[in-house]
Amino acid sequence: MKEKCYCHTGEKPGSGCYSCTNCGTNLNLGTQDKCPPCSKCGNTDFKMNECIN
Ligand SMILES: [Zn+2]
Repeated sequence: MKEKCYCHTGEKPGSGCYSCTNCGTNLNLGTQDKCPPCSKCGNTDFKMNECIN
């Protein structure tokens, strides 16, 4: 049961592994980490890797 599959730059989505929706770069966040812009392409949308869909 994943309610939240996406996160955006500036949010604190919680710990987990996310990937850029544009270039696929992986991003690991801790519980207190703010989601940064993608280090490669500057995209601000990320998808949680654990989320199947
Ligand atoms: Zn990217």
